[in-house]
Amino acid sequence: MRHFVQTYLDDIKWASKGGRYYNDAAFAVRQSPKGEGVVTVFYPEEKLSSPERFRFVPFLVTDDPPPGQRWGHDWCTSCGICAKVCPPQCIWILRGKLPNGRPKPEPEKFFIDIDMCMNCGLCAEFCPFDAIKMDHDYELASYDRTSAHIHDKERLSKPLSYWREINPKRAAAEEAGRQMAEAAKAKKRDQAEEAPRLSNDDARQLPYRGAQY
Ligand code: SF4
Ligand code: SF4
Repeated sequence: MRHFVQTYLDDIKWASKGGRYYNDAAFAVRQSPKGEGVVTVFYPEEKLSSPERFRFVPFLVTDDPPPGQRWGHDWCTSCGICAKVCPPQCIWILRGKLPNGRPKPEPEKFFIDIDMCMNCGLCAEFCPFDAIKMDHDYELASYDRTSAHIHDKERLSKPLSYWREINPKRAAAEEAGRQMAEAAKAKKRDQAEEAPRLSNDDARQLPYRGAQY
């Protein structure tokens, strides 16, 4: 009975602090051992924000779209690693082709059966291009149990700004990693360009040396 009464007293206390009973700050305390009374969320009217590490089904990252467009350039190169590591094998990819018939490094089609997906996140962990990420959007239920649950490339694609919004810390760490890799690549390129210049210098000195003999 004390627990029951405390629920209402706690509601009043938190309402006076934040205006809403069920905000994130209130829940951090009310669902901890410090909490008093019983507490729940009146979903779907009340929703809590998801923690950054929360993962539901995957989505594909694209560049931020230019004005007037929904997506930018695909980050996915269609390498197929995610499809290989996916335990329930629920990813299907069709690689694009260039006009000369050679493989194009982007998917023409990309499907994920979200009913089979077990939200393990292995696809996102293994992708070498940071092109597939785990989404926070969990409201995917529908009465159509066939096509609505097979997400195609259009349904899966979301811009980089969305990833930065739902997972800012990880997105910033990945960005820093990419910049470091770019810097290392540029340094290597500069060193490789230096090497032929040295041998040209040597070559220019050859006739002079020859004149000495
Ligand atoms: S591992 Fe990444 S780049 Fe390769 S196919 Fe999957 S999403 Fe695309
Ligand atoms: S989260 Fe796991 S099960 Fe779902 S598509 Fe990725 S690898 Fe497959």
